[in-house]
Amino acid sequence: MSWFQSPQEEDSSDQMTVLVGSAIRLLCGASGVFVVSNEAFDPQSSTEYTLYRMNKAALPLLLSYAQEGMQPNSLHPLVVEPLAPDLAKQLGVASNVIEQQGVEYCSLALYDEAGPLGGLHFLRQASERSCFERQGEAFEVGVDGGRGENALHLFIVQLAASLRFALRSQSLVKEQERLAAIFRYSTEGILTVDHALRIIDFNPAMERLTGWRESEVLGQFYFKVLRPKDRQGNDLGLQDSLILQAFAGQEVVNREMLISARDGQIFAVSMTASCVRSHYGEPINGILNVHDLTRERQQEEDRSTFISVISHELQTPIAIIKGYASTLARADAHYDTQTLRSRLVAIEEEADRLNKLVGNLLYASRIQANGLQMDIAPLDLDPLIRGVVRRLRARSPDVHVTVALSEHLPTVMADRERIEEVLQNLLDNAVKYSPGQAEITVACNATGEEVIVSISDMGMGISLREQEHIFDRFQRAVKPMMQATPGAGLGLYICRAIVEAHGGRIWAESTLRQGSTFSFSLPREEKAQLPMVVF
Ligand code: ADP
Repeated sequence: MSWFQSPQEEDSSDQMTVLVGSAIRLLCGASGVFVVSNEAFDPQSSTEYTLYRMNKAALPLLLSYAQEGMQPNSLHPLVVEPLAPDLAKQLGVASNVIEQQGVEYCSLALYDEAGPLGGLHFLRQASERSCFERQGEAFEVGVDGGRGENALHLFIVQLAASLRFALRSQSLVKEQERLAAIFRYSTEGILTVDHALRIIDFNPAMERLTGWRESEVLGQFYFKVLRPKDRQGNDLGLQDSLILQAFAGQEVVNREMLISARDGQIFAVSMTASCVRSHYGEPINGILNVHDLTRERQQEEDRSTFISVISHELQTPIAIIKGYASTLARADAHYDTQTLRSRLVAIEEEADRLNKLVGNLLYASRIQANGLQMDIAPLDLDPLIRGVVRRLRARSPDVHVTVALSEHLPTVMADRERIEEVLQNLLDNAVKYSPGQAEITVACNATGEEVIVSISDMGMGISLREQEHIFDRFQRAVKPMMQATPGAGLGLYICRAIVEAHGGRIWAESTLRQGSTFSFSLPREEKAQLPMVVF
């Protein structure tokens, strides 16, 4: 015969539930709840519940009933009361059980040497009696030293101690999860080492900072991974190890130095080292907090970079235009038509470059000042992409472009001109940052929510560290080859502003020296909820 009207909830894998379930079964109960309440045995002041074969929905009812009745205490630890049939029904007990046997509510106070722990509140058939009660001493725990022999008292103390232990390990697990989350989501790099300075933890911020994956550096000597240098770029020796200094009891806070990323790039960080010690004071673990100073340095340098990038970008075409124009203007020189033409074409190209730069600068400052006004309408991406690619092929016959568009692409809601600019920019970059002959693939696919356009190249790629910043204003990767390539670091910033103004996303996936894929998404026409102006 089933005890319950409907299936009951319970997590049998949970150690607490197993303990509580065994205790209730030993007391001949059928279902119940363990309530932790440190103050007294008052269920209302409780914070944690462990259910055993009992619906969550019935819990408040049982608890309020428990509060109204007689309260168990360490003198009378077990209270047993008949339960009214309608209440038993509301608590989920099957009608035939209620009619044939009747139901009892039992409440057991739990305590141990450390004090009261809470109560066990459970339901059982009216005719049942547990082994403790059969001994006839269950309800009267002696105050005069008889306690120690009392089986129920022993059972309670044992159970309370086990439950206390289980609660403690549960809270340890929670604490461990909390610490793991702090470690995982910290924006500061955290690295821990054992007593022999071998890496035992390497958080994701550290992975982003250095380009190394945790799995690659575990067990490695941390000095070999970070290759620290002083501010002048001289390699540091083990005697300068901050962790060893922390092991030796020194306070190591915010020391500035240079470290190397996986790709050889060197950058400034501020480090703080600390030490975990055993009971006997011996160092067990070293902890290194690494704060990337690039961003701060970057901001300091931003203004001067801006001026130098812009003046370089302006000066080069101006110098070329001036050079060609003044040779063409010399009174004593005579040029054939072809020479004349080629110089005029060069002047025109440089003027276009200037025009584009000034246009981008104005665009970027408009985005900052006023946001973007857009002219949104349903847009079919297929012909737009093919048109942009056609123009690129005409302009640069050496470039090899493959177009891979899904059939029947859904329409998106977008500003045609601006999306064309995004495509143009990403394709120009793919060509610009592919040394030798560019191999580019333009793909477009739809998901249930959005349409995703991807432009892949097999060019120089971008390091993991730099991928974070390339969508910011005036940010360029710093590889020497890159510096020789003209650019002001505005294109991707503008692309991001445009795509986000459409409610889409833009991102880059790239491996240094292997190539990059830049993708952006636009919401499908029927899903679009467009923020028209983005600030
Ligand atoms: P610009 O190309 O004018 O410098 P962008 O904003 O378009 O500015 O790009 C920012 C930086 O991102 C570039 O300087 C370059 O370092 C990097 N980048 C962009 N596209 C690519 C690409 N396809 N391959 C490698 N690096 C790229």
